Amino acid sequence: MGAAIIDGKALGIEIEKGLSERIRFLSEREVTPHLAVIIVGDDPASHVYVRNKERACERVGIASTRIDLASDVNQEDLISAVQKLNSDESVHGILVQSPLPNGIDEIAVIEAIEPTKDVDGFHPSNLGRIVMGDRNGLIPCTPSAVMEILRHSGLELGGKRAVVIGRSRIVGMPLSILLAQKGADSTVTIAHSKTKSLEEICREADILIAAVGRPEMVKSSWIKPGSTVIDVGINRINDDSRSSGTRLVGDVEDGAKEIAGIITPVPGGVGPMTIAMLMSNTVLAAEKGH
Ligand code: NDP
Repeated sequence: MGAAIIDGKALGIEIEKGLSERIRFLSEREVTPHLAVIIVGDDPASHVYVRNKERACERVGIASTRIDLASDVNQEDLISAVQKLNSDESVHGILVQSPLPNGIDEIAVIEAIEPTKDVDGFHPSNLGRIVMGDRNGLIPCTPSAVMEILRHSGLELGGKRAVVIGRSRIVGMPLSILLAQKGADSTVTIAHSKTKSLEEICREADILIAAVGRPEMVKSSWIKPGSTVIDVGINRINDDSRSSGTRLVGDVEDGAKEIAGIITPVPGGVGPMTIAMLMSNTVLAAEKGH
């Protein structure tokens, strides 16, 4: 029997619907949640991501402002654009779309964002709160999306062996901490490019999360039968059978769905849920700001 496939798009829409009540409550107090996105340069993928975020804002009733800066903007000007948004009371969420051009220190830009408006959850203050088990911060959207998917699937996480492949500061590392936190109580292994015997480690995983960025790197034979597989990866590969000449695949081989108990597809799994969590963080920031 094949795995249950989580429909991240439908789940994301459900979450967005749940926000509408809170947005209505805010609007009765003359507050409209407002997300400001800074995009630097003309990287096509970044423009697609930003457009998707703007569309989500429109769907749920969040105001959005987009600030386009030239690819040769200097760090000082970028940071002053962030600071201007920090002091704008009508703006509740600030996001600087990555990647940033070479020569700009991404961490310095993130640190310039007022933590209460850091809806990406990348500011050290928000990441630090995760380590402290303090739930008052803003949680990065992709880790939060994965936790929401796991919650929705009704899976008991306590005592389960979770393996997270990837230790980035935006996905793998915060997600690993969330899974291990009191209340979630999974036993977590963090794997990365220096990990030895990755296949064997994966085969022990009740919950396997791939956040690597390598197309179909995780083979079906690595999957423990009946396990939960969350594929965070988004990789564009060539496919001559498509009119576009490309298609999106995850980090997990397609055949894994024949072995896992629950699996997220790519596209349509973690991606749309990540956007829903961004909307959720923006509403939360607006509520806290008022
Ligand atoms: P990074 O490149 O920052 O991190 C990748 C991680 O994978 C690193 O920790 C790296 O190890 C590890 N890795 C690389 N090669 C291997 C290997 N052969 N074996 C084991 N581990 C390996 O990527 P991100 O965390 O930003 O993103 C990961 C993926 O998730 C990408 O495909 C990205 O597009 C996708 N993504 C999807 C989102 C969504 O909304 N669905 C949102 C954000 C990202 P090391 O640390 O040793 O270098």
